[in-house]
Amino acid sequence: MNLTKKEQKYEGKAKKVFLTEDPNYYIVSYKDDATAFNGLKKGTIIGKGAINNRVTNFLMKMLETKGIPTDYVEELNHTETIVKACKIVPLEVIVRNIAAGSLAKRLGLKEGEILKSTVLEFCYKDDELGDPLVNSYHIAALGLCSKEDLATITNYALKINDILREYLKQDNIDLVDFKLEFGKLNDGTIILADEISPDTCRFWDSTTHEKLDKDRFRRDLGNVEEAYHEVIKRLMGEN
Ligand code: UDP
Repeated sequence: MNLTKKEQKYEGKAKKVFLTEDPNYYIVSYKDDATAFNGLKKGTIIGKGAINNRVTNFLMKMLETKGIPTDYVEELNHTETIVKACKIVPLEVIVRNIAAGSLAKRLGLKEGEILKSTVLEFCYKDDELGDPLVNSYHIAALGLCSKEDLATITNYALKINDILREYLKQDNIDLVDFKLEFGKLNDGTIILADEISPDTCRFWDSTTHEKLDKDRFRRDLGNVEEAYHEVIKRLMGEN
């Protein structure tokens, strides 16, 4: 596709989104900026933008082949991608297989404890409120999305979990938990949007349980860049 970046539409913590000549498409540009704890901790992870862009596109393409509609269109270069223009549903959809992070804290579970069944959580995307946890009643009461759209999102999120878990197993990675965002096209279709990367997933080495994700930055564990590189290497065979 012959599209170029026009006016910047939005700048988030890890990405910039640009309008293009065609209102149906945006160009996303991934940054090396890293933030945690709702922006309180700031830093840079060299090469993160390129890794997150390429890992996201790789996984989005794989998911498309398994019947999940996504916003992916075309990778322009290592940090920039053409995506379908959609309206983001203001929910962070969190899927968990193993207790970690806020779930372990909230429910008093030991980090690493395998959950008896998959946990699905929704957070209302609002930085000022700190992305509070909401349930289907809150979602309806606030009009964040329709009942039908929530059912579609739930089905996709669980299917994506099954596909990703199985896929990552081949690379000796355990999918502990991850966050998804969905968007709506003008015709009402719900698609998977945003990113799937070491910024938005907890990836643990299946054998050593070493963390290969943003927790290395959040918790000052060191070897942050190396962990991001390890993920792209295992998935795509890159060095
Ligand atoms: N997550 C994310 N963005 C957020 C919050 C969480 O991508 O704003 C991801 C996070 O990387 C992890 C999962 O969602 O894979 C669950 O995060 P959790 O609720 O445990 O919060 P955290 O401990 O990351 O603050």
